[in-house]
Amino acid sequence: MHAPALRPAEPPRDCPLCPRLHNFIAEWRAREPGWYNAPVPTFLPPEGEEAVELLIVGLAPGLRGANRTGRPFTGDYAGNLLYDTLVRFGFARGDYEALPDDGLELIGTAITNAVRCVPPENKPVGAEIATCRQHFFVPTIERFPNLKAIVTLGMIAHQSTVRALRMRVAALPFIHGARLEAEAVTLFPSYHCSRYNTNTGKLTEEMFRQVFRGVKEFLSE
Ligand code: SF4
Repeated sequence: MHAPALRPAEPPRDCPLCPRLHNFIAEWRAREPGWYNAPVPTFLPPEGEEAVELLIVGLAPGLRGANRTGRPFTGDYAGNLLYDTLVRFGFARGDYEALPDDGLELIGTAITNAVRCVPPENKPVGAEIATCRQHFFVPTIERFPNLKAIVTLGMIAHQSTVRALRMRVAALPFIHGARLEAEAVTLFPSYHCSRYNTNTGKLTEEMFRQVFRGVKEFLSE
């Protein structure tokens, strides 16, 4: 959708731009030296960024999920539902085994987080969201020349995506299951596939599948 990015889309392993998150990761490096404990890179299909038509945007790595394993949505509950759904609709192939070397491959799809570092209590603050957007999320979106659709998981990831696209949040509000035209891309907001949302019934597996069914239909139109 855009010209190739001029800025790097991947943060350095010791990115210092958000001191609170940098310090939090340093704590966890001391506590769990075997964990990944760094900004989590975007998960790409083997064909590379030119093959990407769909981008999935989460909020931030989970402490014992992506922050532990180094691959988005890998190792905690949210990944079970996400990867099961992606395989079901042909956006991924292989068996998801909650490990970064499980061999699962994305098909025409990339997965990233609006904030690349794990935040305490899963809650980044506004300045962290804005900093990571400006430095890494905008270049991440711009690296995909054939991007057509973005699934945004949860309100904060959705709003940061809208801002990264330089559009107004009020014009493209978060509504689960909606289809929002954002000039060159179409946004598909969804409630986050967290254990909390599925346990409380805010998001059922069928509701989540319905979002990706809509994306599949859109991309084959
Ligand atoms: S959240 Fe993003 S900008 Fe902030 S320290 Fe991590 S990688 Fe850097």
